[in-house]
Amino acid sequence: MSKSYAQVVLPLSAEKQFTYAVPLSLRRQVKVGSRVLVPLAQRTMTGIVVALVGESPFPQVREVLDLLDSEPIFDATMLQLTHWISEYYLCSWGEAFKAALPAGFWRKGKRSIRLREPYARALARKLRKSSPLKAGIVEMLMRRGKVSDAALARRVGREGLFVALNQLRRAGYVQVLEESAKSRVGVRTERAARLRASPEETRSAMERLKEKAPKQAAGLEVLLQLGGTAWVAELSTKAGISGQSMRRLQEKGLVEVFDRESPREAYADLTLGSPPKHRLTQYQREALDKVKDAVEKGKFQVFLLHGVTGSGKTEVYIRAIRRTLEKGRRAIVLVPEISLTPQTAARFRAHFGHQVAVFHSGLSLGERYDAWRRMRAGHYGIVVGARSAIFAPLRDVGLIVVDEEHVDSYKQTEAQPRYHARDVAVMRGKLCGAVVLLGSATPSLESYHNVQRKKFSFCPLPQRVDELPMPTVQIVDMRQERKEGNWGIFSGILKEKIGQRLERGEQVILFLNRRGFSTCIKCQECGFVMACPHCNVTLTYHAQDLTVKCHYCGLRQSAPDICPSCHGHHIKFRGTGTQRVEREVKELFPGSRVLRVDQDTTGRKGDIRRILDEFRDGRAEMLLGTQMIAKGLDFPRVTLVGVVSADGGLNLPDFRSAERTFQLITQVAGRAGRGQPGGEVLVQTYSPEEICIRLSQDHDYLSFAHHELRGRRELAYPPFGKLLLVLLQSTEEIRAAQAAEKLATGLKDEAHRLGCRDVHILGPAAAPLSKIRGQHRWQVLLKGPKSATLRQLFRQAKRRAGRWPPWPGVRVRVIVDPVEML
Ligand code: ADP
Ligand code: ZN
Repeated sequence: MSKSYAQVVLPLSAEKQFTYAVPLSLRRQVKVGSRVLVPLAQRTMTGIVVALVGESPFPQVREVLDLLDSEPIFDATMLQLTHWISEYYLCSWGEAFKAALPAGFWRKGKRSIRLREPYARALARKLRKSSPLKAGIVEMLMRRGKVSDAALARRVGREGLFVALNQLRRAGYVQVLEESAKSRVGVRTERAARLRASPEETRSAMERLKEKAPKQAAGLEVLLQLGGTAWVAELSTKAGISGQSMRRLQEKGLVEVFDRESPREAYADLTLGSPPKHRLTQYQREALDKVKDAVEKGKFQVFLLHGVTGSGKTEVYIRAIRRTLEKGRRAIVLVPEISLTPQTAARFRAHFGHQVAVFHSGLSLGERYDAWRRMRAGHYGIVVGARSAIFAPLRDVGLIVVDEEHVDSYKQTEAQPRYHARDVAVMRGKLCGAVVLLGSATPSLESYHNVQRKKFSFCPLPQRVDELPMPTVQIVDMRQERKEGNWGIFSGILKEKIGQRLERGEQVILFLNRRGFSTCIKCQECGFVMACPHCNVTLTYHAQDLTVKCHYCGLRQSAPDICPSCHGHHIKFRGTGTQRVEREVKELFPGSRVLRVDQDTTGRKGDIRRILDEFRDGRAEMLLGTQMIAKGLDFPRVTLVGVVSADGGLNLPDFRSAERTFQLITQVAGRAGRGQPGGEVLVQTYSPEEICIRLSQDHDYLSFAHHELRGRRELAYPPFGKLLLVLLQSTEEIRAAQAAEKLATGLKDEAHRLGCRDVHILGPAAAPLSKIRGQHRWQVLLKGPKSATLRQLFRQAKRRAGRWPPWPGVRVRVIVDPVEML
């Protein structure tokens, strides 16, 4: 006996499941994982069936209105994965589903009903005996043509309405239409034509038409050449056939015109190219052998591929993917940023052609909708994308690659679910028996710790390909420069080396992680520092348009020439951003060409790609940029990298600041000397004694990791302890502060009650960025050896509060495993 009730999860933040009756006609097709349309109050919504049960917990339930796909949209693995996400990241299952399925799939709206039956009057008469309700519905529809179901309910009453409507619908008497509240994405179709007659008949018709109707004959010829079907647009360009000739062909019964789906595809223009053929280095071979072995076994295993910059990690990915495809399984490749997807996808297309799909949240709604459906339908063997591609609906995934696994952008912090794509990748691999390959030149300490704990296998690539040496790194002590009277942006040696490269016709990359011109605007008379009125941060001066801007909320004002506070005339613009570096370079090296990459020069789609292409083509000698140029770029003619200041991140109140600094220097340094020996890196700093800076000089990741892990262990910070951060935001500071106070007290009580002595509840405290966009930010941090305990504590406190959040005017954001503490 098939089950008659469905438990449905809707895309809401409430952790709730809804029960609906499954009408008999759908009982065979509705399965766990199916996407269904259900009524909720006066609306209809899309939901996912998560269970089928024989009995309803409630006496009266409404019916499932429709089944939206012939096959369940989520398979067992994806159901488990999304459920795990909701448990682990403290969100609703519906929010996890929303992350996994693009917006175009969540239809919602009002329903309206229309009459279909041509003999309505007779029908109404017939129905009056058996069901006055149905007769009433039909009569109203006869009068009004189309009505909303709310109007219908007002007229004939709610009692039994849904059952009656569904029966009428199934009998084919009425049609239920969805009127979407929002514009919804649908399938894009275009006109296509196909031959109706056999090839022989078509050919003889072609002969007959050649004289009198050459266009029609040409149309048939092109159709034959293309295998019988073609887009109408294609026929008109290739055969010059007009709408009229097309109609003639249809009238003659030779051709039929119909609507065919025309999928929207992003990056369809990415060139395929031809793949480079390399002989693997010894280390690449060893790593690949291990990974291939695991792929062969088809069992879950995680590898950490620690490859220095330029060691050929991508080559290892490519060959592991090839083996996976040969085994009949599929692969997902994650890259940390949307802007890096075209470049990576192009590299994979060179090897795997059109089996490669690109998927990320930057695609248009329609592109995402189509890509998703085609992935689900099995068109692709490989999906390349940013964070959200971890939910790609490929069947039988055998390999998941996470490139640059240490990068923070894998963590979603803004909206729920606040997941980390690397950790979700590991979980997905575990659930579907896939190999997970994490790659980085500077692995996160979390991942390296998992190697030490023998949870991950370690594959080192300690050398660059082609026996290229690692670039030499020199630390420049800027304090010394100042002592010697150099107050400029560049140290003597950096100036000299840049000059050298320009003479030799080589290229230079300059890195500074601060955009704008001056990062501090200060009055020398009264000491006033210009800060954003909505955010607790200083404003940055932009020389291009003579404005001051807030980099957090986007506030923009014209730059002051007198002090806004004391009206004095000694206002100073201090601190260095990329614009100032650009001006200085142009002054020091007149005639040299500099390209700048930061948020201000890359506002539009395609800007980054264009600038990087110009640099690659040699149309500039210097590339200057923020962390946007730190990762993944491969310019063989770059022999010098200058880090203008390594200190930006060092003094931030975040326990990961040393790790980030080490990663950044190593990654930027890795851009040097990738095509020829003699790559050099100069790192300017006021803190040359910092371990993270000293060890980056020798590219010594392992020493750094061991040193840093010791410190983390002492303070029980990740990866040894787990964190759960609760951020409370309000436009009124007192509300945020009081809410944080109450939350901390509640959590402490709960910890006491549950006897968790090893959990530390830190705070309440103002967040380091204490105000952003007019929102005051307070936080409470939970720290303890087990994530499960922290989550349980929070859940309990929430349950006890009843309504959530219990503080009016306060927004609460819960972040499990936060990556930034600001
Ligand atoms: P990584 O990601 O480790 O920095 P890449 O995978 O981007 O390095 O490789 C750097 C360059 O070396 C690429 O241009 C790649 O084609 C090339 N390459 C990879 N493997 C080899 C090899 N075994 N021999 C020669 N060149 C190689
Ligand atoms: Zn601001």
